[in-house]
Amino acid sequence: MRECQKCGVPRALTNDYTWGSNGTISLRKGSSHRMVMLDNDALNHIFRSIEETIGLPLETITLEAKRKSGKDYIDKILTGVKGTIVRNLASKKVYEQLSNQLRMLGYGRAEVLAYHRREFLEGAVENVYNGAALTGDVAGAFESVEKKSGDCHYSTDDNNVLHLRINITDEVRSEYRNRFLYEPGESLPGRNIFELCPVCHAPVELGRQYTFDPDSGTIKENKTGHRIILIGIMTLNNLFGELTSELGDEIPRIIMSIERDRVKDVIGAKPKELDTSEAGYLRYAKTLELKGMGNGTLAKVDGERVKVRIENPYYEPLLAGFISGFYEATTGKKSIASWTPVKDGFTEITVEAAS
Ligand SMILES: [Zn+2]
Repeated sequence: MRECQKCGVPRALTNDYTWGSNGTISLRKGSSHRMVMLDNDALNHIFRSIEETIGLPLETITLEAKRKSGKDYIDKILTGVKGTIVRNLASKKVYEQLSNQLRMLGYGRAEVLAYHRREFLEGAVENVYNGAALTGDVAGAFESVEKKSGDCHYSTDDNNVLHLRINITDEVRSEYRNRFLYEPGESLPGRNIFELCPVCHAPVELGRQYTFDPDSGTIKENKTGHRIILIGIMTLNNLFGELTSELGDEIPRIIMSIERDRVKDVIGAKPKELDTSEAGYLRYAKTLELKGMGNGTLAKVDGERVKVRIENPYYEPLLAGFISGFYEATTGKKSIASWTPVKDGFTEITVEAAS
């Protein structure tokens, strides 16, 4: 896979996605399909923490949510003549192309081991970001290409390689099992300006802040050394939406507090003087833009209360955790956070000292 010689960002990534001036990353062919650059360690930490809190594994829910959105995504790409051709010619090559996609998004290095048309697909994945999630990704694509339901089996061996097999079944899924809880709304425009690479037109900061290694299927954030993945915001909202509807309304608040504590630790690990004025909060919120997480447009500091408006938010509870982690790290106080559900393209996050 070719990378830009100047900035190191894979060409395929800048060909497929565009970094908007409004805090979004979207698919060039279909701007309603938005992505975020998410800290994979943080995501897996959220899964583990919820599992510990409720005492149940989340693998089935994760796989299902990814399968659904993966299928929807490939359904959207494989339309018209192109879809007919790909489905008629369905071959190992189709799945090898899929594995290139997965590598580009930082999901790991997938290899097709065996494939029999209208029967099964077998693969192995090194450096997998999350076993259940990746199996869901592949299953969704498989179901879209084959136009049949798939039955998934997966396991991880001693070398941390994921082995997966998907068999075609005649099971017809109910409408309910394919429904989406979240549909993206319109994005508000913005005025952020990225300095662009003169060669590939990716934001220069992208190549500076991240190391892309499509050969191993990984993306690393240089500052933290953490692994990053590109994930659809529809996928993420559906996944968290499923968790909430299956496990209870306290899930968003649990997610917020897990993220708050993590952000607080990250900031606290490198103590330095941080600007906690309105301008300081806005500067902090600016770090969301490159990740496609939204656009911080307004901050108001009123005594011990901070209010931040974020347009085009990717997921409100995680953003509330992001703001309150900063608040707690800089004030040394415990906080209470609240947020308005996204409406008219923005959310308002309020953080104040807990009394
Ligand atoms: Zn470049």
